Amino acid sequence: MNIAFFSTKKYDQDFFDSTNTDFNHQLTFFETGLNEHTASLTKDFNAVCVFVNDDLNAATIDLLAKNGIQLIALRCAGFNNVDLKAAAEKNIKVVRVPAYSPQAVAEHAVALILTLNRKTHKAYNRVRENNFSLEKLTGFNLYGKTVGVIGTGIIGQCFAKIMLGFGCKVLAYDIKPNEELKSSGVEYVELEKLLKASDIISLHCPLNEHTHHLIDGNAFEKMKDGAMLINTGRGALIDTSAVVEALKSEKLGYLGIDVYEQESGLFFNDLSETVNKDDDFLRLMSFPNVLITGHQGFFTKEALEQIAQVTLQNLTDFENGAALENEVKA
Ligand code: NAD
Repeated sequence: MNIAFFSTKKYDQDFFDSTNTDFNHQLTFFETGLNEHTASLTKDFNAVCVFVNDDLNAATIDLLAKNGIQLIALRCAGFNNVDLKAAAEKNIKVVRVPAYSPQAVAEHAVALILTLNRKTHKAYNRVRENNFSLEKLTGFNLYGKTVGVIGTGIIGQCFAKIMLGFGCKVLAYDIKPNEELKSSGVEYVELEKLLKASDIISLHCPLNEHTHHLIDGNAFEKMKDGAMLINTGRGALIDTSAVVEALKSEKLGYLGIDVYEQESGLFFNDLSETVNKDDDFLRLMSFPNVLITGHQGFFTKEALEQIAQVTLQNLTDFENGAALENEVKA
């Protein structure tokens, strides 16, 4: 297959090039994202390989179809950025990498919790400046706390098991409860009960029309005072204006996010010499109890190897007319 890769960084090229020695596809890497303005680059290719912030709306897909693109290969799990109906109408198949080291994202969620709680990021800077004061570094024990997991799919399950290991009581909300987790000691409850009872809430459900702004002003009202909210799912699961208000009123005690509603255009880029004009983002960064990472939950060696392997296998399956195990349908 002749594949145009979009939104690529050097690490994407390195992992895909080395894995491709077993597949022999023709890979062309573009740094730019894919959207209706860049879709013209796909002439002469059979497939595109895209990532989380590429914008495959109906207009982009129309242009891809005109250029003869037959397959959209997502090198990620989420597919909220693809208009699946438009792709089906143009007879373009969509495949993804449903599970790549789910531990990578689950462990990153735990890293956000531990950092926010024990303030290791602040301690690191203090000690380097010969400041050994412990003032304002007080944390709390995770042992015995109640953790609410929203979405117990592949990543949420891993996360729930890690938190059980800390000695936490784990509550979960999912439209399809997982029996194995129940027998491990996780209690499934309604969303409202989870919001009311949890000291820490972690989001692991997909972004879709039912989960958009799942955490809004109403949800914050129901939460315990001083609760911690962690989001490694997708930015728009949280209403950004509502979270800013919840932090200002001190209803929310801690916020740890790896994804942000308006992350497209910000994340994955070095913007250190540019003026950040996103006022919501700057407001979030002004709070001492907010920790933001730039969508790096997936970013481990193991996950990158699996992403390359599964993506190239998806492309080979399509080329050979084999069943598409990882197809996403409207
Ligand atoms: P998954 O499909 O295995 O699990 C999602 C779970 O959410 C399922 O159990 C599903 O039943 C549940 N769910 C669906 N709708 C729901 C709703 N309305 N309310 C409650 N639960 C609902 O997905 P996964 O692999 O565990 O990934 C979860 C999400 O994590 C992805 O959709 C993606 O957005 C995000 N993700 C982020 C990163 C990162 O680097 N930060 C990396 C990979 C995935």
